[in-house]
Amino acid sequence: MNELLDNPDALSMSYEEWRSWVTDVLKEPRFRADQICRWIYDKKVFDCHSMTNLSKELRDRFAYESPVRVPIQIKESKSKDGTRKFLWQMEDGCRVESVLLDHAAHTTACVSSQAGCPLGCVFCATGRAGYSRDLTAGEIIGQFLVMEQRLGRNINNVVFMGMGEPLLNAVSVFKSVRALNHPKMRGLGGRHITLSTSGVPQGIRDLADFEVPARLSVSLHAPNDALRGKLMPINKRYPLSALVEAMRYYKKRSGERVTIEYVLIEGVNDDPSLAFEMAALLDGLGVYVNVIPYNPIADGDGAKPMRRPSESRIKAFCAALTELSIEHEVRREKGTDIMAACGQLAARA
Ligand code: SAH
Ligand code: SF4
Repeated sequence: MNELLDNPDALSMSYEEWRSWVTDVLKEPRFRADQICRWIYDKKVFDCHSMTNLSKELRDRFAYESPVRVPIQIKESKSKDGTRKFLWQMEDGCRVESVLLDHAAHTTACVSSQAGCPLGCVFCATGRAGYSRDLTAGEIIGQFLVMEQRLGRNINNVVFMGMGEPLLNAVSVFKSVRALNHPKMRGLGGRHITLSTSGVPQGIRDLADFEVPARLSVSLHAPNDALRGKLMPINKRYPLSALVEAMRYYKKRSGERVTIEYVLIEGVNDDPSLAFEMAALLDGLGVYVNVIPYNPIADGDGAKPMRRPSESRIKAFCAALTELSIEHEVRREKGTDIMAACGQLAARA
């Protein structure tokens, strides 16, 4: 706590930390914390000098002790379907991307949790680009708040489906989720926050044990260890038995349904028989499946190129899911023309 009070990173602070900082360091009444949070999370005012209900002296001290640092926008790209992609630079120069999906009824922000990703899934551009470091809670929240500021209205949903594996950076990710959710901070409902994981069993258990207000999506992509291990190196560390056990624990403990993500790659994992194998593996979990036709990524490495299956193959896979009474939908790609779709983020300048 002392370390934090000496050098607080404003956007990484929890509501409780704001309260102690305001009383212990600024020697101000506790309601100042609510005022400051309203400026940042409601009004998207990040410059302390513009926080007009704080005294001039207080603003000066705030700016000196704990300035609000938001990611710097390096580039914005706009897709013909309306999807926007942002490239940000953090204080130390490291860069990540976020995506803003603007549908008629609601908007969704897709944020990054790490600069790059250490897990190297073969179908993912982020995985190929390597890993630099974990993002802080403030750097994650910053992506979201600056996108809201740019949009000029509130975003309805946030998904941790940008760069990185959220459950390998669980402390900062959980902290950012709580700040997004806290009624005195951003106040976004837990049903509107989704974490996607490639399958870190302990992280999945922690989500349930610590009652993190978010939904859970698991990237399965294959129903047996032989195939999954080829696509996702993490499967060697945490095989399917451990992953499914953690999912069952999560379901039992939280009562929440798990969503499965299944990237469909032609000739690799799109055989309808794999849908039956998946049903057996996940028996009793009552999952919802998001079928994601593979999005091409640049920089083929000479290995056999991966392709999106034809519409008839996608239909055949979905027909098997229907036959198995597994609820599902096909998630249509957004922003492929600007490399903003699932798996395409690589933070190229
Ligand atoms: N690391 C987390 C979250 C980020 S990836 C995870 O893997 O779940 C978000 C989703 O995009 C995951 O389901 C991932 O498998 C998927 N994805 C990765 N590469 C893709 C590609 N080339 N085409 C379609 N989806 C892809
Ligand atoms: Fe990392 Fe997810 Fe990409 Fe795999 S799919 S490399 S876990 S970001």
